[in-house]
Amino acid sequence: HGHVQFKDVRFSYPSRTDVAVLKGISIDVAAGRKIALVGQSGAGKSTIVQLLMRYYQVGSGQITVDGRDLSNFNITELRRNIAVVPQEVMLFGGTILENIQYGKPGATEAEVREAARKANALDFIESFPEGLQTVVGERGVKLSGGQRQRIAIARAILKNPAILILDEATSSLDAESERLVQEALDELMQNRTTIIIAHRLATIRKVDRIYVMREGQVAEQGTHDELAAYED
Ligand code: ADP
Ligand code: ADP
Repeated sequence: HGHVQFKDVRFSYPSRTDVAVLKGISIDVAAGRKIALVGQSGAGKSTIVQLLMRYYQVGSGQITVDGRDLSNFNITELRRNIAVVPQEVMLFGGTILENIQYGKPGATEAEVREAARKANALDFIESFPEGLQTVVGERGVKLSGGQRQRIAIARAILKNPAILILDEATSSLDAESERLVQEALDELMQNRTTIIIAHRLATIRKVDRIYVMREGQVAEQGTHDELAAYED
């Protein structure tokens, strides 16, 4: 499961009802597929993510997951099945173990360690004397943006959601880390997780379909090869 459909979705933020932010978006992601939403800042990528998380309701049109209207989902049930890794990851002021465990309450330390390994986070975690027990945040170790992203990715991997959304989530990673994260994602895909990647740049390669967003619309869509001529 994890089939996501946007059907002619239109949307304005409640604070700016005069501005059409999404102007008829149609997207169809079959369960277990990986797609990318690319386009310049302000194109509407994050808005799509926020609608899928049901932070806001669509103006018109419909969003369905597995054929079921999003508004029919229990919000807890919905968010249990969707994991989002944002661009700017905030961790809470506990241990790294607790921060990753948050993805799956009650997960064992071995499970946490495995998720951290897949997210390419284990090396830097183990470089701290206290390893997974290292406290982060104001009272603990200050982590870089890239390190926090890898912890958030480990949390998402542990959660094993039906749908995983990466909102500019690898933007702080170097090319090698990004490659390793992609490998982790491919592992997740085998578990039939639907993956939606929102990114400013069309650098994403291993996705099934790319949607090029421009000013609240899907300007172009296709496979990476079909869109090879596209320049941001
Ligand atoms: P992207 O993720 O592609 O950078 P966004 O979805 O964040 O684009 O933004 C799309 C448009 O919606 C932009 O014009 C932005 O200024 C506007 N916008 C985003 N968030 C809000 C908000 N909370 N209230 C009003 N307008 C917003
Ligand atoms: P970057 O590596 O992206 O430049 P910074 O390390 O400068 O990121 O931190 C960006 C923001 O995240 C700052 O407001 C900082 O206080 C906060 N931050 C840094 N480390 C942590 C942490 N471990 N937990 C929560 N917030 C953090």
